[in-house]
Amino acid sequence: MLDRFNRQINYLRISVTDRCNLRCVYCMPEEGIKLIDHGSVLSFEEITEFTKVAVEMGITKVRITGGEPLARRGTVNLVRMLSGINGIEDLSMTTNAILLPKYAHELKEAGLMRVNISLDSIDPEKYRLITRGGNIQKVFDGISAAMNAGLSPIKINCVIKKSIDEPDAIAVKKYCGRNDLIARFIYEMDIEKGEFGIVHGGSGGDCANCNRLRLTSDGFLKPCLFSDISINIRKTNYNEAVLLALEQKPKCGLNSTSHKFYNIGG
Ligand code: SAM
Ligand code: SF4
Repeated sequence: MLDRFNRQINYLRISVTDRCNLRCVYCMPEEGIKLIDHGSVLSFEEITEFTKVAVEMGITKVRITGGEPLARRGTVNLVRMLSGINGIEDLSMTTNAILLPKYAHELKEAGLMRVNISLDSIDPEKYRLITRGGNIQKVFDGISAAMNAGLSPIKINCVIKKSIDEPDAIAVKKYCGRNDLIARFIYEMDIEKGEFGIVHGGSGGDCANCNRLRLTSDGFLKPCLFSDISINIRKTNYNEAVLLALEQKPKCGLNSTSHKFYNIGG
């Protein structure tokens, strides 16, 4: 399906929760966030029904994200429900990998194809500081579990401050080279101030070629990460919601004050 600027829209990112088991400094406040109440969170049935309609209309790529998608109970079941939809060519997840040792095999068996894993430093102490308490060994174990389960290719999302040549980024790149992982470098963004940039090694941040729609865990379809435009899919029929998102998708992002990274999932 095409939007009004002739961009081919074929990618849906679904945030399944705003909860997380880490507190990355650039993403969440230390004390955590005011969680959306359980009743507002889309059920797996709602997510699946919406995705079915979106796929009928032209979506071929689906990514599950969060918050931390594996922190929501039953996410493997959602993967199974989504993988049963005919027409999804690429079903992936973005995760911090902490829970992958537990779930990697089940996810693969349920139909997940691949994972993107967030890792900004390979230094245990730096990692602990960035994530406010995360244990990097769990991430390394999660990466091994994903490899053993065949969730490949595995991409590593590394958030950088200023350049791909900063020491942590160089170390992550070398680590990826040694371990058959694909590194992607994402500039730290300020979604409220509208500070965003392109993703090195990926396709994000390039408004002219943007192919995405995003569904938040509380049921809002967002045509752009850097805009407050959103459509409540509980108040609109699903087909109409997708058409409205296409119609309203801005030519270029500006900023978003209504939602944050942990609601939208990056
Ligand atoms: N919890 C999962 C994880 O960390 O992979 C999925 C959700 S997280 C919001 C998705 C991606 O957004 C992660 O790769 C994270 O590094 C990135 N992210 C979060 N806040 C960001 C920010 N302010 N600037 C750039 N990337 C950010
Ligand atoms: Fe959690 Fe991911 Fe945000 Fe880090 S980036 S706090 S892991 S949602």
